[in-house]
Amino acid sequence: MADVHRLPIPVSENWDWQRLGACRGANSSVFFHPDSERGSARQAREATAKRICHSCPVRAECLRHAIQVQEPYGIWGGMGENERRAVISATRRRIKTRAS
Ligand code: SF4
Repeated sequence: MADVHRLPIPVSENWDWQRLGACRGANSSVFFHPDSERGSARQAREATAKRICHSCPVRAECLRHAIQVQEPYGIWGGMGENERRAVISATRRRIKTRAS
């Protein structure tokens, strides 16, 4: 689960984008892996989820949200868990470099 301290305040402007997601009504098991999933099964499921994301009209908003709250699980904005972690780490390194 995301760190709830990073979640936006509960006003509709911060959350309305979710109503427009291409995944709305889709089975969440496409976007979130079961406990024991590995290898080709995981790759196939993630590829399916990312195909849905790539046609999504709110992909940018979704990815921004997932990175801001450091959502640890699932496919958000067309990115998987490791891809988002890499973006967050790179951003931290850039900020640290600028501050020094
Ligand atoms: S980008 Fe993907 S996960 Fe995000 S709202 Fe769109 S379809 Fe759903």
